[in-house]
Amino acid sequence: MKKIKIILDENDIPKKWYNIQADLKTPLDPPLHPQTKQPIKPDDLKVIFPTGLIKQEVSKDRYIMIPSEVREIYRIWRPTPLYRAQHLEKALKTPAEIYYKWEGTSPPGSHKPNSAVAQAYYNKAEGIERLVTETGAGQWGSALAFSTQLFGIQCRVYMVKCSYEQKPYRRVLMETWGAEVYPSPTTLTNAGREILKNDPQSNGSLGISISEAVEEAATHDNTNYALGSVLNHVVLHQTVIGLELKKQFELLDKYPNIICGCVGGGSNFSGTSFPFIRDKLLGKKPDLQIVSVEPLACPTLTKGEYRYDYGDSVGLTPLLKMYTLGHNYVPPAIHAGGLRYHGDSPLLSKLTKEGYMNALAYTQQEIFEAAMLFAQTEGSLPAPESAHAIRAAIDYAKICKRKNEKKVIVFCNSGHGHFDLKAYDDYLHNKIPNGMYKKIRTYASL
Ligand SMILES: *Cc1c(COP(=O)(O)O)cnc(C)c1O
Repeated sequence: MKKIKIILDENDIPKKWYNIQADLKTPLDPPLHPQTKQPIKPDDLKVIFPTGLIKQEVSKDRYIMIPSEVREIYRIWRPTPLYRAQHLEKALKTPAEIYYKWEGTSPPGSHKPNSAVAQAYYNKAEGIERLVTETGAGQWGSALAFSTQLFGIQCRVYMVKCSYEQKPYRRVLMETWGAEVYPSPTTLTNAGREILKNDPQSNGSLGISISEAVEEAATHDNTNYALGSVLNHVVLHQTVIGLELKKQFELLDKYPNIICGCVGGGSNFSGTSFPFIRDKLLGKKPDLQIVSVEPLACPTLTKGEYRYDYGDSVGLTPLLKMYTLGHNYVPPAIHAGGLRYHGDSPLLSKLTKEGYMNALAYTQQEIFEAAMLFAQTEGSLPAPESAHAIRAAIDYAKICKRKNEKKVIVFCNSGHGHFDLKAYDDYLHNKIPNGMYKKIRTYASL
């Protein structure tokens, strides 16, 4: 009988994270100091990160133990289910099998607490009393508020101003979990004051909020900074997704042909795909296709350059070698707020550059069509970010139909869209502009 949900036992929550740095053919280009442009020393990062996380950032160990306190909290929602999207398959009349790993079951509603819990743990272990961070649409801020609350540390969130005003409910969730939330740019930091001096009406951006949070962490002893994506340690924590997924496919006695996922800073998709990319690096699965999906409004992998760039707008962070649209790039205000970032994870960027992964980009119209079809067949309402992955899975399933191929497609469904109903409302009432962006898509061939 066809299995619809592949559910693991709590004992199957991974005991170790997988660190792909151990299996790269050549090491990552090192991060550079923002002023000297010389490779940064791990100690330089101590003003904003705990040593436990700095060690993970540069580690070459293949597997890193997950502390039992972190696994204990993971048990609230992990392991997450793997679903077979049988109703979607039926609607598409495809011979392909479509599966999705459902990360929307966590309390904040996305994959983000996989890293937020770990980050709160390591900071608490080193006596840090307060974490500051930025948030765009509010997914990361709420994941960190949820996690800091559990470890009894304070949390301050600089929330991009236009989201603060347009999406009050994520703020309410953060405040419920005990965080302070400010619309950024603020007058609390030099970075914020500088931006406001030049543009008093600034709507903010993720890059500006990062500058504010990093500045505050660097200037307060008891306070550290937490980043929700991009960095190696964040990607490491997210590998619980892919490690569980591998086990779930083993239970099915199958192996995927195509894995896709949405990419903002790259954490959910790196976490999903890296344990499988290991097989490619070892030469075992040369035909496996790994496909990142991004918005045409912020086409970092499909249109960006692979070079060193800052992680924030002001230029306070180390320079990272990554695909980037330039640190001053402010993407149009699309609904997939979590994908509005100018750069991408250095690890995911390198693996893309070297051809282990491909990328596709879609318009908002295209991703909402996919979100609607998914909601109307499978039931649950995806986040606009996650709908990028859904769109790619649907398009590959359609190609399988045309070629009459029975491939196994899996995507990471990174979160639910219950706080994004305004976006759905806009789509339903034709308020989403179509054809705003030139099509630049190149299909990863099947
Ligand atoms: C933040 C977010 C993303 C994008 O971030 P990544 O680091 O690329 O995973 C995708 N989906 C959801 C639901 C998010 O909240």
